[in-house]
Amino acid sequence: MIFRQLFDSTSGTYTYLLASRPGGEALIIDPVLEKVDRYLQLIRELDLKLVKAVDTHLHADHITGLGALRDRTHCITVMGEQTHADIVSMRVAEGDRVEIEGLRLDVLYTPGHTDDSYSFLLLDRVFTGDTLLIRGTGRTDFQNGDPRAQYDSIFNKLLKLPDATLVYPAHDYKGDTVSTIGEEKLFNPRLKVKSMDEYAELMNNLKLPNPKMMDVAVPANMRVGLHQEEVARKGWALTVADAIALSGKPDLALIDLREKNERKKHGVIPGSLHLPYPQLPAEIGPGGILHELAAASGKRLVFYCAFGERSAMAVQAAQDAGLKTACHIAGGIDAWKKASGPLAH
Ligand code: FE
Repeated sequence: MIFRQLFDSTSGTYTYLLASRPGGEALIIDPVLEKVDRYLQLIRELDLKLVKAVDTHLHADHITGLGALRDRTHCITVMGEQTHADIVSMRVAEGDRVEIEGLRLDVLYTPGHTDDSYSFLLLDRVFTGDTLLIRGTGRTDFQNGDPRAQYDSIFNKLLKLPDATLVYPAHDYKGDTVSTIGEEKLFNPRLKVKSMDEYAELMNNLKLPNPKMMDVAVPANMRVGLHQEEVARKGWALTVADAIALSGKPDLALIDLREKNERKKHGVIPGSLHLPYPQLPAEIGPGGILHELAAASGKRLVFYCAFGERSAMAVQAAQDAGLKTACHIAGGIDAWKKASGPLAH
């Protein structure tokens, strides 16, 4: 496995780059905007292909690199379903998996620092965001933070992992890089409490100043979504109502870009083909399925995904490849469901 821990000294943020092999797919956790060039350079040097960028929560102390990485690599952006960020390509919940070639992260919902805080378990290690830090825990006094929820996340979820599990947090301000669950149980001063009430009392009296970047970072991080209006302005977007009216027509090819798990969980539009977004580049050129459907069979390509992010990127790629009938369903399956469009399970 390729595993890199990168550091942004301005915000004290750790960013993690993961891949199963050189030349393979990569995933990044908690990227910082100012460091995006550095990440992309390293990704090139290691001959990796970035396919997913994940934030453990909506950060208040730095601007996320999610949007910039998405724009420059066409990767899928991932956050928890509670997130207040406008649109991310994929939203996950407790029990879901975030997968790339050769690696699987199990998703743990660990609210408390914020209500959209998640941890990600990968084999012998857990990425704890700001829920559990090394000899500390993330503050709970803003962004819908809740010390009682955090107590529950830490004591009833993270500390239940095997003692040898490595702990990789989103931040450190003292120079520590990694810990273990066993070590934190023994030595984390915040965890030396006898009850949830005592923990809440401790956390409610920290009297910390707000992060310097907070007023800039929080609003910026809530707007990582692609500008789907741009795609609509070019005439490449169908409203859900248009799409419902058109569905079932023989000259239409509906293409679902989501992953297997998302399809299972949220259902599919009847009659649609499945082509996971990462496989798109191989299928839009001559000889590819989409090229055949559009160019040879004259079908109108209608992409859809969870929220319209992946499908907006797919439309652009297909149009660039000369497939002029390509469009997408604005808002994705989320909007489709809200409009009571038919679903198959
Ligand atoms: Fe945070």
